[in-house]
Parts: sequence; structure tokens; C-alpha cells
Amino acid sequence: MDIPRTADAVVIGGGIMGLASAYELAKEGKSVLVVERSDLGSGSTSKAAGGLRSQFSDEANIRLGARSLETFAWLQEERGHALDLLRTGYLFLLSEEEDVTRFERDVALQNSLGLRTRMLTVAEACELSPVVSPDGLVAAVFNPDDAHCTPEAAVAAFACEARRAGAVIATKAEATDIEVVDGRVTAVTVVRGTTTRVETSHVICAAGVWSASVGRMVGVDLPIRPLKRHVAVTEPVDFDARAIPFTIDFSSSFYFHSEGDGLLMGAPEKEDTWEFDVHRDPAWLEHLCDLIETRAPQLSDVEVRAGWAGLYEVTPDHNALIGSSQEVEGFHYACGFSGHGFLQGPAVGEVMRDLVLGRTPFVDVSGLSLDRFAAGDLRKELTIV
Ligand SMILES: Cc1cc2nc3c(=O)[nH]c(=O)nc-3n(C[C@H](O)[C@H](O)[C@H](O)COP(=O)(O)OP(=O)(O)OC[C@H]3O[C@@H](n4cnc5c(N)ncnc54)[C@H](O)[C@@H]3O)c2cc1C
Repeated sequence: MDIPRTADAVVIGGGIMGLASAYELAKEGKSVLVVERSDLGSGSTSKAAGGLRSQFSDEANIRLGARSLETFAWLQEERGHALDLLRTGYLFLLSEEEDVTRFERDVALQNSLGLRTRMLTVAEACELSPVVSPDGLVAAVFNPDDAHCTPEAAVAAFACEARRAGAVIATKAEATDIEVVDGRVTAVTVVRGTTTRVETSHVICAAGVWSASVGRMVGVDLPIRPLKRHVAVTEPVDFDARAIPFTIDFSSSFYFHSEGDGLLMGAPEKEDTWEFDVHRDPAWLEHLCDLIETRAPQLSDVEVRAGWAGLYEVTPDHNALIGSSQEVEGFHYACGFSGHGFLQGPAVGEVMRDLVLGRTPFVDVSGLSLDRFAAGDLRKELTIV
């Protein structure tokens, strides 16, 4: 496949953000080129646990999560893409009274935005997720409409829809430079065996945890740090895994949900590792066993069969960077999703389309632009896992 020499927009990165953005723009009749230097979804997206929630503390995140859930359901139900989408809800287990107060506030906000989130007693939580130990828990929060699905299936679905809409998707194609003339984006250099100069007036930086290096091409500082996170997948369990919600022990961030007949489990490392390394650390598995012993001891004998490590793309306030540069016209960014980007991908794709086309997005994302850091106006998301 030849790399086109012109495009209305060049999207850098073939993860969920880049592909959703490309789909939305191509659907509007724009010529779009996606460049992915490796394989589609090979960055953080394919490492994600697939959790889809709209339970957040920040209104923009609630709206982005809820809108994306509709699109994931549309892709599966209307467009026939097999995403393994299971809408069994998201259950947060709380063990601190101060978290209860804060979550009660968030539930009120989410309800005001149309979500069915509700507080639960510990007994109700254990009924929904029967392997949970009630020890130390004081309450729980549940949204029955939250879900999980298979990330690489969502990547394939968006790639298919984007191509059908006319987008060109080039893998093994790296963006190595962005030309800026008189403060405007004019071209992107793409290397895929040979080098091609692609004339364009819009670039979307959707390069995930690697976005800072793309930002440097145009002198825009994107403050994102890589944080290693592991996931483990177990053998089949002797109960109906598919019936349980995505269950999270909020104080430790230990979580699990069904993966086929088994479970997918995740948790932070005991000590955070801030680097681009994705080697698996055996110490993490020991830590995971301790967390299981405390919160779901019934799972202690379940064997771990597979696993991987990937990178969260973390910003100083755990909120995404979504916007258009004030300094470089035509440079747009959607990155730094701090571990909850998969679930926001479809809605952020719509937002990026509107930023490129000069329309008003369905949700106000102005508070998520880079300008907040210059203004010292951090916007902290509290419901992070
Ligand atoms: C273990 C783990 C569990 C997670 N669980 C969840 C979850 O349950 N729910 C959730 O919402 N999120 C989850 N996340 C976070 C989620 O994976 C990310 O927020 C999301 O995938 C980011 O998508 P992206 O498209 O922005 O980035 P990526 O998927 O990383 O895509 C960026 C792409 O850009 C490419 N690229 C970089 N530089 C260039 C260049 N110069 N030229 C061309 N291509 C380039 C990379 O190769 C990469 O493929 C999890 C993350 C991890 C690590």
C-alpha cells in the first residue's frame, strides 16, 4: 500500500484513540491517513483489561465514558463486530468511610447525568460478586450499565469501520517529523521503508504513552509518564464468571472480571515503576496473591495461566490531554488517559473530529486542554484504578 502524499488529517498512532478519530473524520468525507509504527493496537490498547465504565468524579469523564459505552454496544449490536461486550456492571468495593462520602457525591453527580449508579451495602455487593470477602468493607458502589469487552476486537472493529469510511491505515509506518510553517502544521514525514512527505494541515497526536516525543516534533510539551501495570488471566473457574461484574477493591485497586470461563485480574505493582519497560516482574504475582488472599480468598487456589505488562500513560492530574495547540495551528492531541483511555476512545474520536472540523464537541473538553497546566489549574480525577 502506498502512503498518500496529501491528507486532510494525519493521525499518529493506531490504538483505540487514533482509529476512533480516523473513523469519525473519514465518515465526514475527510481524507485521513493513520500511521502506526508497529501493529494496530500494539501499544497500551491491546494490554488493557477492557473495562468500560462511566463512574468517574469528573463530569467530562462521566460523559465520555457513557457516550463510548453506547458506541461499543452499537459496534457489537448494530454493526456485528464480536467485541465480547458484557454489560455486567462495575462494582467498586469501599473500605474507607471518607471514600464512601466522596463516592456518594459522585453517585449524585452521575445520577444527575442520567446514570443508574447506586450505593450498595456490603451484603448486596457480596451477592453480586460472591467470591468477595466482606472483611473490612464498609460499602460499595454499582452501575449496572458499565461493561467490559476485548480491546483488540474493538481495535479491529474501528479499523474496519474507518477503512470502510475511506481512511487509509498504514502499519509499520512511523511519523518522524512534523513540519510547521508560520505557526501552522503543513506536513508529516512518514517512514515505512521509504520516506514520504505527507502534506496536511491537521495532525492528531494519538501516540499514547509515546505522545511526548510527538509533541516535541512541534515544540509542544505533553506531560505524560509511563507507569507499568500487570494483568493475569486464570484457568477456568468453577462458577459462572460471566455473571459477575467488573469488581474493584478501591483501596488496593485489585480488580477482576470474566475472561472466557476464567478471570482476568489486575492490580498496581507494590512499588510503582515509572519507565517504558514492559517486562513482567515475578514479584507482582506474589503481590497479587496477597491481594487475592485478602479480598477474594476463594480464588486463592485458582491457577494463573497467562499474563502481560503494559503502560499507563499518566498525567499530573490523572486526567486526559484533549485539545488543539494554541501555539501550533492544526496540532491536536488526545493522549495521557492515565489508565482509562480504552473506555473513552469512541467518544474522544468524536471530540477530535469536531476539534479538527471546528465544531463544538458534545462534551466540554476545554478543561482538559494543556492550558490547564500553564494556568496551574489541575483537574484531578479521583476514581482511578
Ligand atoms: C494493564 C493495563 C490495563 C488497562 N486497563 C484499562 C481498562 O480496563 N479500561 C480502560 O479504559 N483503559 C485501560 N488501560 C489504559 C488503556 O490501555 C489506554 O489508556 C488506552 O489504550 C490508550 O489508547 P491510545 O490509543 O491513546 O494509545 P495506544 O494504544 O498506546 O496507541 C498509541 C500508538 O501510537 C503508536 N506510535 C507512537 N509513536 C508513533 C509514531 N511516531 N509514529 C507512528 N506511530 C506511533 C504506538 O506504536 C501505539 O500503537 C489499561 C492499560 C494497561 C497497561
